Amino acid sequence: MSRPADPFTPSLNIAQLKESATIAASARARALKAAGRTIIDLGIGEPDFATPVSIRAAAAAAVEAGATKYTATEGILPLREAIAREAAGRWKGPLPISATDVVVSGGSKQSLFNACFSLFGPGDEVLIPTPSWTSYYEIVGLTRATAVSVMGDPADGYRVNAATLAAHATERTRGLMLNSPCNPTGAVYSAAALREILALAADRGWWVISDEIYRHIAYDAPATTAFDVATDRDRLIIVDGVAKSYAMTGWRIGWTVSAPAVAKAMTALQSHTTSNPAAVSQHAALAALNGGEAVMAEVRAMVSAFHARRDAALRILQQEPAIQIIPPDGAFYLYFRAPGDAPDAGTRFADRLLEQHGIAIVTGAAFGTPQWVRASYATAQPLVEKAMRAIVAAWRDGAVS
Ligand code: PLP
Repeated sequence: MSRPADPFTPSLNIAQLKESATIAASARARALKAAGRTIIDLGIGEPDFATPVSIRAAAAAAVEAGATKYTATEGILPLREAIAREAAGRWKGPLPISATDVVVSGGSKQSLFNACFSLFGPGDEVLIPTPSWTSYYEIVGLTRATAVSVMGDPADGYRVNAATLAAHATERTRGLMLNSPCNPTGAVYSAAALREILALAADRGWWVISDEIYRHIAYDAPATTAFDVATDRDRLIIVDGVAKSYAMTGWRIGWTVSAPAVAKAMTALQSHTTSNPAAVSQHAALAALNGGEAVMAEVRAMVSAFHARRDAALRILQQEPAIQIIPPDGAFYLYFRAPGDAPDAGTRFADRLLEQHGIAIVTGAAFGTPQWVRASYATAQPLVEKAMRAIVAAWRDGAVS
C-alpha cells in the first residue's frame, strides 16, 4: 500500500493559525547574527536588563529548599496571596479579591489563552482594538471564535473608544480585549476612556480581558488599570505577569485575576494542559512581588532608562517631519508609518532595514496595520540611537524610491 506523500493536514483547530510574526522577526535576526552579521535587534519585546539580583537569589534559595516538585495547578498559595493583595489595593468594588480568584500560569500569554479558551467558542465574536498585539487574533482564532478588528483612530494614538466599539458589535459579540499601555503603539488609555469602555461592556454583558502586562511601564503618569475604574468585576479578567516590568521574560510567569467561577474553569483547563508553572519561577515571582521598595526601585530605574531611550529615539525620528509617529506614553515600542503607499509598505521597509542596514524591526502587518512598523527600544540607548539614525536615512530613501 502506498503512503500519501505528505500525511500532515492541520486539524481545524490550527488550520488558520499563523506563527508569531514578532518571534519570527527575532528568530531571523538571531539567524543572521549567528551567520556573522552585525544586527541591532529592535524586533523583540524583551527588556535588555538582567532580572534583579535579589529575585535570582530567592529562586536559587528556593531550589535549595526543595522547590523542585509539582505545585498546585493554580500556583503556590503565597504567590496567589501576594497577587491578590496587590490587586485588592486597587479594587474597591463589590466581590473583594482573594487568592481564590488568581490562577498563575506559564506567562501572561498562557493566561490570555486560558481566559479566551474558557470564555469564547464557535459562533462568538470578540472585539480586538487594532493595531493590537499579534497573539490576540491568533488566540481568539484558536478558540474558533471570530476576532473582529476594531480600527483605532490614528489621530488619537490608534485608541478605540466606546462609540467605535459599539459600532462593531453584533448580537454575537461576547467579549473585548483591552491592552493599556498598548503593544504595539505605547498608547495609554485615560481613566475616563477606560471607564466609558468598561461601562459599555457591562451594559452589553461582554467579557473584558484586560492585558495589563505593561502597567508599570508608563512615563508621564501612572497607567490607569481596569481595577482602578471598573464598577463590577463579574465579567472582568485581568491578565498580568512579571516578564516586562521585572525583566523576567524567561521565567515564564503570568496570571489572571477573575471571578472565582472563571478561575475554577481556567484551573481545570490548565490541569489538563501544562499543570502548574515551574515551581522555581513561582518563587522568583513571589520574590519580585514581595520585594518591597528595593525591587520597586530597580523597576523604576528600568522604567527611567526606557523613558530616556524613548525621548532620544523620538528626537531622532522626529528629525524627519514626514514620518507619522505615535509618541508612546508607555511600554517600550515606537510605532510609525513606513515610507511609500504600498499596501505592504511595513513589510517592505522591515525587510529592507534588515537586509541592507542590519536592523530588525517588526512589520505592522503583525498588528493589523500593514503600512506601519514597530521598533522596540528595550535595547541599550547608543544602539537605539544608532538604529534610529539609520531608520531616518532609510525612510528618506524609501520615500523617494
Ligand atoms: N501581552 C502583551 C501585550 C505582550 O506584548 C506580551 C509579550 O510580548 C505578552 C502579553 C506575553 O507576555 P509573557 O512573556 O508574560 O507571556
